[in-house]
Amino acid sequence: MIRAQFPIITSHPELAYLDSAATAQKPQPVLDAVHHYLTTSNANAGRGTYPWANSTTALIERVRERVKAFLDDPDPARSQVHFVSGTTEGLRTVALDWLVDELADGDEIIVPFADHEANVSPWLEARDVLARRNIRVGVREMPYQESSGDYDISALAGLLTPRTRFVAATHVHHVYGGDMNVGRIREAVGPDVPIALDAAQSVGHLPVSLRELDVDFAVFSGHKALALPGSGAVWSRGLRGAEFAPRGWQGTPNTVGIASLGAALDWLDGAGPERIEQWTVGLAARLTAGLRELPPYEVVGCQLSLAERSAVQQRHGIVTFRHSDIESVDLGFILFSHGFMVRADGLCQGRAGEGRSSVRVSLHAYNTREEVDRLLEVLTSLAPQS
Ligand code: PLP
Repeated sequence: MIRAQFPIITSHPELAYLDSAATAQKPQPVLDAVHHYLTTSNANAGRGTYPWANSTTALIERVRERVKAFLDDPDPARSQVHFVSGTTEGLRTVALDWLVDELADGDEIIVPFADHEANVSPWLEARDVLARRNIRVGVREMPYQESSGDYDISALAGLLTPRTRFVAATHVHHVYGGDMNVGRIREAVGPDVPIALDAAQSVGHLPVSLRELDVDFAVFSGHKALALPGSGAVWSRGLRGAEFAPRGWQGTPNTVGIASLGAALDWLDGAGPERIEQWTVGLAARLTAGLRELPPYEVVGCQLSLAERSAVQQRHGIVTFRHSDIESVDLGFILFSHGFMVRADGLCQGRAGEGRSSVRVSLHAYNTREEVDRLLEVLTSLAPQS
């Protein structure tokens, strides 16, 4: 039983944790791995003249390979995994330690302004750094389909020029929960343009195959994939452009975070990313179907993709909605008074985002149908009776 492996969940039966897109809870084997590491071999890495230091160095190398295998790396002999504190730091280091050296005056980059701010501001920062060196880079806005929140690939094709040098994209949208069909970006931009993928909402929630996605960078946060905070990774391969090499002296890595990431990926593999995906997609579809029966609620995002399986854009375990008469932040407080922990605010969306706050329910392997049904009961009680 998966839920039983999450002590924070089982020890609070009166609460329902529905905010896993913000951060995920940790299963016992991850907690055990942290305890084991800190009580048996805690030491610094890469400075070894004694066994604990050597085993920490070996652990880090092992988790690097583990990340590659987990992401179905097409080229593990050539690719690199660089550990960072999370997606925000990871994307920023790609922007400032790699992208700025790839761009010349007059080049253009494509930025997804309705995605998470962490996948918007680093690219603008890179542009600004270059502007101070009198290198002018054009920033084009990734086009979205009005009806769906999915990227608009034909409009994207129209934006491309011979100077398009880089595209930033997101695997699963943190507000709409939609799979952003990243494979279609590669088809549109052709074989030579590097793509950086924000995989914060996909790693740990569904099978991720870098072999299929054909991107150049994939960045994720360990804490959203059941590991400790501060344990993210940048996967890269120097196929298009220079090898990624973070600048400057790299200090002590987050050894215990990396240990937790290895254990989390082992746990996820054991549980089966396909099964986790199936479960969370099913729960989200159940919640969505219930909300659509309740007139005061509007489910935000692609209305064509609200079914459990959609040919338009697969939805994952994230459902975002608003009540016509109750402010989302108030709704968040009301829901917590019934024991539901949800996210209720602007959701850190970039500047082309919703511009209005909403309530987000995000699900993981430990959530249950009963929790969704109880939530729907409370939401029904907040809908005026006709
Ligand atoms: N990208 C997406 C899609 C996210 O959902 C988040 C966090 O919610 C981030 C980036 C930033 O992740 P972190 O705060 O772990 O750096």
